[in-house]
Amino acid sequence: TEKAYQFMVRSRIPGGALTAEQYLTQDEISEQYANGTLRITTRQSLQLHGILKGDLKSSIAAINQSLLSTLAACGDVNRNVMACPAPISNRAQARVQEIAHAIAMRLAPRSTAYHEIWIDGEKVETIADEKEVEPIYGATYLPRKFKIGVAFPGDNCIDIYTQDVGLIARLEGEQLAGFTLVIGGGMGMTHGKSETYPRLAEPLCDVTPDEALNVVETIMTVQRDYGDRTNRKHARMKYVVEERGIDWFRQQVEERLGYQLQAASPVHIHAAEDHLGWHQQANGNWFLGLHVQNGRIHDKEGLRLKSGLREVIKRYRPELRLTAQQNIMLLDIQEADRVEIEAQLHSYGIETDPTKVGHYRFAMACPALPTCGLALAEAERALPDIVQALEEPLRALGLDGEPLSMRMTGCPNGCARPYMGDIGFVGRSKNLYNIYVGGDLLNTRMNTLYAASVHTEDLVAAIEPLLAFWKAERHPQEGFGDFCHRVGIERLRDEAASPSLL
Ligand code: SF4
Repeated sequence: TEKAYQFMVRSRIPGGALTAEQYLTQDEISEQYANGTLRITTRQSLQLHGILKGDLKSSIAAINQSLLSTLAACGDVNRNVMACPAPISNRAQARVQEIAHAIAMRLAPRSTAYHEIWIDGEKVETIADEKEVEPIYGATYLPRKFKIGVAFPGDNCIDIYTQDVGLIARLEGEQLAGFTLVIGGGMGMTHGKSETYPRLAEPLCDVTPDEALNVVETIMTVQRDYGDRTNRKHARMKYVVEERGIDWFRQQVEERLGYQLQAASPVHIHAAEDHLGWHQQANGNWFLGLHVQNGRIHDKEGLRLKSGLREVIKRYRPELRLTAQQNIMLLDIQEADRVEIEAQLHSYGIETDPTKVGHYRFAMACPALPTCGLALAEAERALPDIVQALEEPLRALGLDGEPLSMRMTGCPNGCARPYMGDIGFVGRSKNLYNIYVGGDLLNTRMNTLYAASVHTEDLVAAIEPLLAFWKAERHPQEGFGDFCHRVGIERLRDEAASPSLL
């Protein structure tokens, strides 16, 4: 007999946009075939965990029937394209979301193998000329996964600098003038391998809306041809950009396009909206952003999130958006329905006021143990206790109203983008974490290694003295990460004199 192999199934959901029916299908599959939970990913997608091998075909068929797909949600291809999930309020915004969707479709693998493997062993002769199968990816696809995100001006809710290619819209009134492209971002690294590191994307060029798809595709072909295929840990495009330089990269793109690119415009990030709470849309209706701790949708004592969402979504059929902070938005709610929806959600223990979720609001963790095979340490199961334990000292210092982003991953691959937060915890081995501080809430700056191999039980004690130092010496309104960045790691270490320092 075969082992009871279990799988994770991730859907491709560009911009995190899905219908009520698509959500309800995923909800049903999670009950019927998976472990009863749904998980919103940090790239605005949905994952189902614990699907047995024998149930894979039925699960994926049900996803396909709901007009979603799992194609290119994993693998060495362009992954789920991220886009700001704010509801469309003008034509320019509509074009931005259209372009995000068009990028996802243009860069989807053309292979029919995806469908063929589900035909019960029968080979279907669908391909006449194998060479025509993948016009962009070729026979060997990309050296590694590839990540693209599209942002609205000023709002960095999708962590634009962590993408292989980030497109930042430039608006002129209600017109989309084009995009500024930043390239070469990426979070993953490997402990003890100095040739690997997280990196922020840097400006490449401006493009018009009409040329955006072509330029993005061309950038991807440079990575296809020059990315390191000998070492998977060093295979992301960020290493090509870093090691060959942005000017070399631009020249490659220009040669392939046959014309010169426009210089990149300056980018001004002034917000990183989490889209939580009630907001009125341009059409007069409302959207409600709901906090989902670490993106995990399930029922537990006192908070029946999964059942509550199911009931409200079934009844009101709102369009839905998944956010890059692993939260969910219900769109186009009519004024007359607001009170009742709130009451229903509250009856399941679901908080609708984001100011009442404390410092969980800006906390994110990857799944890690027990579901991720690469995990070295806990994340999703460990972070809530750490956030809770930090609430008390924050309250005692009068800092409880201050936003603070905390991100935790079970290994240095960095799926929850831990090198960008005010505080990052990155698993090294069972119960040991590196602590990073000094990022910012706008996600424009990486944090810095502050302490290595700190035991889970010492994480709160390692952060506490820094909070007191922040309280004592911060400038007015200065965020924790900004403060840590200003004073520098050495002073933080001197001040804390922690026993677990490097
Ligand atoms: Fe990603 Fe590592 Fe977390 Fe697994 S343990 S989800 S690979 S960061």
